[in-house]
This record gives sequence, structure tokens and C-alpha cells, in this order.
Amino acid sequence: MGVLENLGKRISRKAIVTNKQQIAEHTFRITLKLQDSKGLSYTPGEFLRVLVGVDQSVKLTEMVRTYSVWGYDAASQTIDMAVCTFSSGSGASWAKRLQKDETVYFTGPKGKFVQDDSGDYYILIGDISSLAHLYEINRHIPPHKKVYSLIYADHEQDFFADLDGTSPLSFLTLPPNPVQQLIEQIELILKQAQGKGLVYVGGDGRVCVELRNYLKQHHQWDSRQIKVKPFWMPGKTGLE
Ligand SMILES: Cc1cc2nc3c(=O)[nH]c(=O)nc-3n(C[C@H](O)[C@H](O)[C@H](O)COP(=O)(O)OP(=O)(O)OC[C@H]3O[C@@H](n4cnc5c(N)ncnc54)[C@H](O)[C@@H]3O)c2cc1C
Repeated sequence: MGVLENLGKRISRKAIVTNKQQIAEHTFRITLKLQDSKGLSYTPGEFLRVLVGVDQSVKLTEMVRTYSVWGYDAASQTIDMAVCTFSSGSGASWAKRLQKDETVYFTGPKGKFVQDDSGDYYILIGDISSLAHLYEINRHIPPHKKVYSLIYADHEQDFFADLDGTSPLSFLTLPPNPVQQLIEQIELILKQAQGKGLVYVGGDGRVCVELRNYLKQHHQWDSRQIKVKPFWMPGKTGLE
């Protein structure tokens, strides 16, 4: 692993942890300052691939995890991320042991689950692992466009506010994998929404797949209106 780890460090960019704060029962806010002067070429909704297994004797599959950019401030060259600890994998243990002033190695940002101005209205759906991502998308939707949201968790203590302390998205306390309850809420939204909708579904891969199929089959939504990104899937590790 030593050779691969060194290679990983060499092709990665470096940042320093300037703050780490527990913001909910299972979530840490991690603030990073870039260590080079290049800045990020960044589209809201992109993510970083972070070396979470540095100095740990872990398998290659445990070395890298993907985290969305919650916010990027170009002036101070700082990046915020919200890292969850619902799992017991290498990403969760990295977040728990990470300390202020530590170096973080990453590649990116990249991704296709990004800002898209083509909707007349938006529906943002996801669990807590996708909340920071959806906050970032929400902040970049033109203010005159209507945003509906369904952010769910099985405990209220898991919800957290956006970077500016506000809570502009709607929280629902629901059991895991609540596809039926989400479909009921989507039906209520579709009755009142006007124009062309655009939906973002992130987090639990089962919910992503079911809701995409539902909107295509029952409402004939075009694929371009449905943006889904599984962040995790039961039985699988380290999706990207
Ligand atoms: C594009 C993208 C963006 C992402 N952005 C974020 C982000 O901003 N914040 C964030 O926290 N994560 C994010 N993730 C998920 C992240 O990459 C990790 O998969 C996650 O943190 C779990 O990693 P792990 O090593 O702790 O567990 P793994 O070793 O990957 O998984 C161990 C087990 O835990 C289960 N598991 C993983 N996550 C959860 C969960 N949330 N709830 C219940 N069970 C789970 C897995 O199914 C698996 O069975 C993103 C993923 C992708 C693909």
C-alpha cells in the first residue's frame, strides 16, 4: 500500500483542516483551506475524491471516498463539506479521527449531479448524506423559481442547517428507504407545481432508482428532468 499511497498523495491536491465541528448526531462539518494558489474550477454540485485511508493499513477499496462540496469560497480558498457517520466504513472513521491542522489529499472537483437552470420549478429529495449537496444546489437556483424539498431522516437530531444557519429545505421524519411516503409527497407537489419540473434525488441508491422509475413511468418525465445520484447502497462500499 505504501507505493500506492505515495502515488495517491502525489497526484492529489492538498488542503489543511481549519475547522471540524459536529453539527448533528451523525454529521461533521469539515472546513478545508487549499494549500496552493490555483483555486478551484468549480460548478455547484461537484464533489471531491478524498484520500481517507492515509497512514492507515487499509485495502485499496477503503482508501478513497467521495464528498460533495457544500460550499466553496474562492476569496479565502476554503471548501466546506458535511461528512456523515451513519456507516462504519473508512469514510466515517476518517471523519471521526480527523483533526484541525491535518493535511487532506483530494482530487476534483468533478461530477454531473450539478446546477441546472433549465427547470421552471425544482424538487430536491434526499437523506442526510445528500443534505449538504442539496443545500448547495438550492443556493444556486434562481431566486424567482419555486423549490419544493423532501429531506428525510429517521431521527430529528440528524437534520442540520445550511452554512448560513438557515433551514430553507423541508425536513420529514421518516423510516429508512421511504419510497411510498415520498411518492405521496411528490404527488401533492405535482398537483400544485406549474411549468417544467426538475428533480434532484441523492443519497440512498434504492430511493434514487425507485423515484426515477416512478417519474418516468407514471408521469412520463424526460430523463433530462430527473437527476439522480446514489451516494450509497446497502451492501456496497465507496460509491463514486
Ligand atoms: C457523488 C457522491 C457524493 C457524496 N457526497 C457525500 C457527502 O457530501 N457527505 C457524505 O457523508 N457522504 C457523501 N457521499 C457518500 C460517501 O462517499 C461514502 O460512501 C459514505 O460516507 C460512506 O463511506 P464509508 O467508508 O463510511 O462506508 P462504506 O464502507 O462505503 O459503507 C459501509 C456500509 O455502510 C452503508 N452506508 C453508507 N452510507 C450510509 C448512510 N448514509 N446511511 C446508512 N448506511 C450507509 C453502506 O451501504 C455499506 O453497507 C457521496 C457519495 C457520492 C457518490
